[in-house]
Amino acid sequence: MERNCVACGMPMREPEDFALGDTSRDYCVHCMREDGSMQSFDEKRVGLAAFIVKTQGFDEIAALPLAEAMMRKLPAWAGHFKA
Ligand SMILES: [Zn+2]
Repeated sequence: MERNCVACGMPMREPEDFALGDTSRDYCVHCMREDGSMQSFDEKRVGLAAFIVKTQGFDEIAALPLAEAMMRKLPAWAGHFKA
């Protein structure tokens, strides 16, 4: 069974892809805090932007709106984009 993380869209296939290895969770190991809870909108936004800077060579100013554009498509953050 494969599910996509609600917070970043990553496909989760193995138990270790899920937060705390718990396949009943709907977010992945990259979207959890050290205590196993899901990261906040701002934590994920900053984390995603840093990932974009690292992997795509954008500067941070350019990466933040790109991170937001990615998050806009993900169910975990839908409430943050309501008008
Ligand atoms: Zn995730």
